[in-house]
Amino acid sequence: MNRLPKGASGMSKSSYRKMMIRTAFAVSLALIALLFLLTACRAKPPADPFAIYRAAMRPQAVGDLDSPHVRQLPRYWLTYTVNYGQRSLQGSERVLYTHHSETPVRDIYLRLYPNLSYYGGKMEITNATINGTLSNFDYGSDRTILRLPLSFPLGKGQQVAIGLHYTLQAPEKPAGHYVIFGLSQSVLSLPLAYPLLAVYTPGGWALNSGLPMGDTLFSESALYHVSAAYSQTLTAVHAGTLLHRQPVTSSSTVRETYVTGPVREFAFFLSPNYHFEEKNVDGVRFRSYYLTGDKTNGVIAGEYGRAILRIYQHRFGFYPYNVMNVVETPITFRGMEYANMATLGVQVYRNRHDSQEFLLSHEMGHQWWYNMVGNDQVTYPWLDEGLTEYSTTAYFDTIYGPQRSEQIKKWRWEKPWQYLVQQGLDTTVNQPEGAFTPANYETIVYGKGALFFAALRHKVGDAMYYRILHTYWQRYKYGIATPVDFLDVATQVSGLDLHDLYQKWILSHS
Ligand SMILES: [Zn+2]
Repeated sequence: MNRLPKGASGMSKSSYRKMMIRTAFAVSLALIALLFLLTACRAKPPADPFAIYRAAMRPQAVGDLDSPHVRQLPRYWLTYTVNYGQRSLQGSERVLYTHHSETPVRDIYLRLYPNLSYYGGKMEITNATINGTLSNFDYGSDRTILRLPLSFPLGKGQQVAIGLHYTLQAPEKPAGHYVIFGLSQSVLSLPLAYPLLAVYTPGGWALNSGLPMGDTLFSESALYHVSAAYSQTLTAVHAGTLLHRQPVTSSSTVRETYVTGPVREFAFFLSPNYHFEEKNVDGVRFRSYYLTGDKTNGVIAGEYGRAILRIYQHRFGFYPYNVMNVVETPITFRGMEYANMATLGVQVYRNRHDSQEFLLSHEMGHQWWYNMVGNDQVTYPWLDEGLTEYSTTAYFDTIYGPQRSEQIKKWRWEKPWQYLVQQGLDTTVNQPEGAFTPANYETIVYGKGALFFAALRHKVGDAMYYRILHTYWQRYKYGIATPVDFLDVATQVSGLDLHDLYQKWILSHS
């Protein structure tokens, strides 16, 4: 039943009008409030924490940041204050880690690569927090491993925020030495100048270190936001894209902020003697950094690099980042790969220029096979090195024709390997770095490894071979692959049984 309140029917005309005006006023107020709320909701959607990294991607690849896989990768916030004269760095780090295994963990492990004997640095942790609460920590393996105990088990899909403060002292080494870390020939090389999360594998945390003759880094792809302060007299070379640069008040220091896309690591180099030339390749800002006096070969390195980039992304997969750098560093006559960077030694620019093109075609191949598709370089060094080495033929085929690639195959891979066979020194490709010696490492891991990919290409044909590589890249981009993963992709895509081929080249020796 619905009754009118008492007296409603006996109301005077004027009080009725007043009541109506008051009601209309209240309704209008409510409508305005509702409208305001709706507008406010529309103006302020929940902020996307991944939006900031778009600045590091080419427009065609920003969608990569929306994939569920990329959204559970680690995210680092690094702050560096570098004193070039003293070769020291004050650092702070915040890293968000999402556990992705069914097996819960009670400890988090990070790698302190600068403490490796052949890096020669000294990294000291001064303070650690877990989810904002002070945490204990201890070191292992000559201080190259940092362990943070958790007061709770971290299960699948759960996230933890790690905070670290640390100091870092880099060594100084004379010219002519292979210097991967520290100061030499005016370049302060600071790759991996931060505690890096170890990788949690089906076998637990991967904590092995490599050998000086091989690569040591094994990491997940991650997104980086880095703020670095250094003297204005220096030029910085870094992974990722510069967001802003501002002078630090009342000093000759500048602070720069960078972001990266999903990359394997953040590398950083400083020198007062760096210069660069820059050109754009379809939306990629491609720079070649060279030291004073090396302009001619610095410019040539940029020309080679841009041609290689175009060919590789056509053959292997789209290069998603909007920056790429070729950098002269004090690593003698060798090359070395980093995310968004291929570095070549000073001697390559000054007296081994004939090797520049090949070395660059190798180091740039690592943007696909190492940076985008990662693998455990200590346990299966051949997977990225053999494939990267053979990937150089994609460039040489295109620029000079297949005869040039045949020459490379014969002289770089077949002849040295046949020599080892004659000496009775042939060994299996699929072994960890520690199983090799300096006498056979490159010939087996790079050379015999490359010959496996050559044999695969010969068996399946050119078009199918590149379809295999493209599928492998697509499936494991920003992830980690194993040799079995590669074999599975090759078998599925080609529809052929490749076990004999794999057995012959990868699992056996003469
Ligand atoms: Zn390599």
